[in-house]
Amino acid sequence: MERRARLFVLSGPSGAGKGTVLSEVRRVRPELGLTVSATTRKPREGEVADVSYHYMSEERFSELVEAGAFLEWACVHGHRYGTLLSEVDACISSGASVILEIDVQGAFAVREKRPDAVLVFIEPPSMEELERRLRSRGTEDEESIVLRLANARHEMELAARYDARIVNDDLATAVRETIALIDKYETDGGIDQDGSH
Ligand code: 5GP
Repeated sequence: MERRARLFVLSGPSGAGKGTVLSEVRRVRPELGLTVSATTRKPREGEVADVSYHYMSEERFSELVEAGAFLEWACVHGHRYGTLLSEVDACISSGASVILEIDVQGAFAVREKRPDAVLVFIEPPSMEELERRLRSRGTEDEESIVLRLANARHEMELAARYDARIVNDDLATAVRETIALIDKYETDGGIDQDGSH
């Protein structure tokens, strides 16, 4: 069956497990392109510069904004994050679909510029479970956890505007559903019989 490379956007609250879902999806579909975002936040332990993110100063980030280097950028949890156009173009010119793991503001900004982008929302089974995951991750201080939980409530309200929602309760199921969704959009454009998404 013929496949068409698509731009996918994956978002969801911090702690919903987007990163884990995405790395499992990539194990099954290694040809999927991933972009490395720019950020002004400091690296966490275990993160690798230019692999996890392109870490940079506020000044450098502003220069890139001025230069029009971003497909989108947003302020998330008090730091700036952005998708570099050069990263997206490099993936797309290789002919593979691309997945952007970005926040809700970024997702809607991408939809404005690329209306055929497919917006996928990864959500936790409950807010209680989200809080438990954030705390057990042990990477954030209390202030950051409170901020991330408040942001999560706001993000969950926007989930209805996404093209698809996946509940990450059981990881294997969430990965299977994400891959099925990618297959669907790559092969039939995700258009239902009645012409809707
Ligand atoms: P973290 O600091 O936990 O790595 O990421 C915090 C949030 O920033 C996540 O929701 C993540 O999806 C979002 N994010 C990461 N990269 C980008 C980006 O390039 N653009 C936007 N808008 N959000 C991003």
